[in-house]
Amino acid sequence: MNVSVFGIGYVGLVQGAALAEVGHSVMCVDVDAAKVQALIEGTLPIYEPGLKTLVRENYQSGRLQFGTDLAAAVRHGDVQLIAVGTPPDEDGSADLQYVLNVAETIAQHMDRYQVIVDKSTVPVGTGDVVRARIAEVLAGNGRSDLTFDVISNPEFLKEGCAVDDCMRPDRIIIGTDSAHAEEVMRELYEPFNRNREKIIVMDIRSAELTKYAANCMLATKISFMNEMATLSEKLGADIEMVRHGIGSDPRIGYQFIYPGVGYGGSCFPKDVKALIHAATAVDIDARVLKAVEARNNEQKTTLFSKIFEHFDGALQGKTFALWGLSFKPNTDDMREAPSRVLMEALWKAGARVQAFDPKAMEEAQRLYGEREDLTLAGTKEAALKNADALIIVTEWQTFRAPDFDLLARQLKQPLIFDGRNLFDPQRLGKRGFTYVSVGRQTWPHVVDGGMQ
Ligand code: NAD
Repeated sequence: MNVSVFGIGYVGLVQGAALAEVGHSVMCVDVDAAKVQALIEGTLPIYEPGLKTLVRENYQSGRLQFGTDLAAAVRHGDVQLIAVGTPPDEDGSADLQYVLNVAETIAQHMDRYQVIVDKSTVPVGTGDVVRARIAEVLAGNGRSDLTFDVISNPEFLKEGCAVDDCMRPDRIIIGTDSAHAEEVMRELYEPFNRNREKIIVMDIRSAELTKYAANCMLATKISFMNEMATLSEKLGADIEMVRHGIGSDPRIGYQFIYPGVGYGGSCFPKDVKALIHAATAVDIDARVLKAVEARNNEQKTTLFSKIFEHFDGALQGKTFALWGLSFKPNTDDMREAPSRVLMEALWKAGARVQAFDPKAMEEAQRLYGEREDLTLAGTKEAALKNADALIIVTEWQTFRAPDFDLLARQLKQPLIFDGRNLFDPQRLGKRGFTYVSVGRQTWPHVVDGGMQ
C-alpha cells in the first residue's frame, strides 16, 4: 500500500519505518527541512534502539522516502497518517494547530478518496473537527465531490522500545464509523496482526479517549507508588518490600509500580493535563488526575529536598555527579525529564553538576549550551571526579552494577542519592556508603540509639 506520514518525530519516523519494513511504500514528510535533510544524509533526529538500521535499510530499498513536499505526500498515499505533535496549550489543553494544518494540506491536495488517520494523541471530538475542516476546504475549492474517511488510530509505542512496539504491537485500536475505512486499516496492519487478533475496532470518540485513558492510568500507577514511597519513608517501611508484596497480586502485577523521581517525557505530563482540561470543559472535576499531576510535580523535587536536607542547605560551591539525563532509559528524550528539574534546582542553590548519560548528552548540550555549572562528562566514571556525591536519576542498565571501589575513590565522600532504588541499602552500607534512596530508610541509619 502507499502510505504517507505527516510528521517525522518519534511516532512518524518509527511507524513509517515499521510500515516500510513489512513492504508498504511510505513517504514521510515534515516541515522541518533540516531534519529531513539530515535523515536523507543518514543522521537520525532521535535515538531509539534498532531504529537506525531499520531506517537505513528501508530508505536504501526505496520503500521509505523522506521529504518536505507535503503536496507530493498527499498524492502518494492511499492512507494519510497524521503524526504531528499535540503539545499543551497555555491552559493545558492539547494544541491542535499542527493536526489541523495537516488536515488542511491534505484537503488542498487530495485528488481521490482518502483514508485520513489520526495517530497523534488528540482530544475526544477531534475526529469530527478534522472531518469538518477537510470538508470546508474541499467545499471552498469546489471539490465537495471528493470523499474521505477520518480514522482515529492512536499510537501506543513506548520511547526506548518504540521499534519493537511498532513491529509487535500489543493492540491496534481503530476508531471508525466506516466499514470501508476499517477494511483499508485492516489491510495496512495485516502484517502486524498475524500472531493473534490485535485489532480492536470501536467508534472514533472511544478510540480517542482510549489513548488518554491508557496514559493517565499508567501515570496514576506511578504517582500512587510515589505516594506510597513517601509514606514508607515516614512510617519506617521499605517501599521495595511493599512493591513486591503488592505486585505478587495478579490483579495489581509488577509492571509500572516502581517508585522514583516522577514521570516525564512528552506524553504523560501533557496527556494528564489535557484530560484534566477536557474533563473541566464538560463540568467534570478530574479529582484523581489532578492528584496524579500534583504528586508528580512534588516527586520531581524529592531528590533535591533530600540533598538539601543532607547538606543542611549548604549547596553553594558543591559539585554533584549526575547519572542519567533522559526521562527514562534507552532514549535521548529530555522533554519534561526529572533531571532538568533537579539540575535547575541545584544550579539555583549554587551547586555544579557533572552529568553523564549514555545517549542524551547532545540533547543536554542543545538545551543548556555552555554554562560554568554544567560539565557534560565523557564517561560515567569521569562524572564522579571530586564530586561531593553521586545522584542517580535515570535507571540505565550501565548504572546498575558500578565499580563501587572506584566510586568511593573518585567521590569526595562515599555518598549516593539514588532516585531509582538501584542498589541494596544494606550492601552499600557495608561498603561504607551513605545511601539515600526513595521510599526506604537512609543507610546506615540509627536504630535504638546505635548505628545499624
Ligand atoms: P515530535 O514532536 O517528535 O514530532 C512531530 C513532528 O511533526 C515534528 O518533526 C514537526 O516538525 C512535525 N510537523 C509539525 N507540523 C507539521 C506539518 N504541518 N506537516 C508535517 N510535519 C509537521 O512528536 P512525537 O513525539 O512523534 O508525537 C506525535 C504525536 O504522537 C503526539 O500527539 C504525541 O502525543 C503522540 N504520541 C507520542 C508518543 C511518544 O512516545 N513520543 C507515543 C504515542 C503517541
